[in-house]
Amino acid sequence: MKIDFASLDKSYLENKVEIDNITTDIFSNAQFILGEQTSQLEESLKNYVGSEYALGCASGTDALILALMALNIGADDEVITTPFTFIATAEAIAFLGAKPVFVDIDPRTYNIDPNKIEKSITSRTKAIIPVSLYGQISDMDAINKIAKDNGLFVIEDAAQSFGATYRGRRSCGLSTIACTSFFPAKPLGCFGDGGAVFTSDRLLYEKMHALRVHGQTKRYIHKYIGIGGRLDNLQAGILNIKLKNYEKDIERRQKVANWYSNELADIVTTPYLQEFNTSVYAQYTIEVDNREELQDFLAQNGIPTAVHYPIPLHLQECFQYLSYEKGDFLVSEQKSKTVLSLPMNPYLFEEEVQYICDIIKKFIQ
Ligand SMILES: *Cc1c(COP(=O)(O)O)cnc(C)c1O
Repeated sequence: MKIDFASLDKSYLENKVEIDNITTDIFSNAQFILGEQTSQLEESLKNYVGSEYALGCASGTDALILALMALNIGADDEVITTPFTFIATAEAIAFLGAKPVFVDIDPRTYNIDPNKIEKSITSRTKAIIPVSLYGQISDMDAINKIAKDNGLFVIEDAAQSFGATYRGRRSCGLSTIACTSFFPAKPLGCFGDGGAVFTSDRLLYEKMHALRVHGQTKRYIHKYIGIGGRLDNLQAGILNIKLKNYEKDIERRQKVANWYSNELADIVTTPYLQEFNTSVYAQYTIEVDNREELQDFLAQNGIPTAVHYPIPLHLQECFQYLSYEKGDFLVSEQKSKTVLSLPMNPYLFEEEVQYICDIIKKFIQ
């Protein structure tokens, strides 16, 4: 059997007629950047999330940069985040001249440990960026309370959790600003780069609206120094189609996760979901001690896997100047050696998941 990791081609085939129609339309109208599909998407996104405003932008990375810029974060500021995430989270902070300050993760959820945040706050701290890793939202009530007590902003990095819920409320509607990504491999992916920012603060929305187009408030009138961070109309058109079926995709992902967990919970560490959360399973990630051997064995049997992430950010060469050392974040360091993401997409059949689990069992027993 040959298994797909993310099955990106199937998401086109499933909506082929609608996607072909919308792309032909946009090619004929030649409205390529922002445009009608983008406005329509922004309306649907904010309604879906339950925030006052949503803005499409060029990527999840640009979404983080727009959020930090809107909050005036730059040189001399510190931003608290997790070292166990994709590079973009901390990169955006550093890119703007601010200092990423890492706080270790909860060993069960892999998300920033709220109990460890407060002792890292200094007079320079401006914001906290919790990352909702693998599709599960961080403990936002606890994080928002710490932020409120200390006068900080909260930016949810929801690149992996769009559609997930926390105490019945959706990811991206739980913080000062939230950022998501529509990179093809994310739970809601387009067919290129894309992202969005969310807020319920009108002034922040207006500022990000301008920052997205070079700080422009009217044509060629530049109030701020901004970025070229616009969304393509084509990507927005594809997202409008995919968003209509997104709840069904989430249910299928959750079903796949349940098949895995039912088979594997007794033999490896399977994802732990806090009782007030639902996950969209951007990744289905297990833990094993002999990860590389298991990866090889799975590959020999036609099963692709991935490691999210093999090196925690405080040990990356680009962040050497922050002077962190091995041993500073023991939970993140240990997890980076044991986590393994299995194939996860809405198109997996139960027999395929069963096959993958049988191979894992054969390896372990
Ligand atoms: C993918 C991802 C990003 C960046 O999104 P892009 O659209 O690839 O720029 C940021 N943070 C996290 C946690 C991600 O997984």
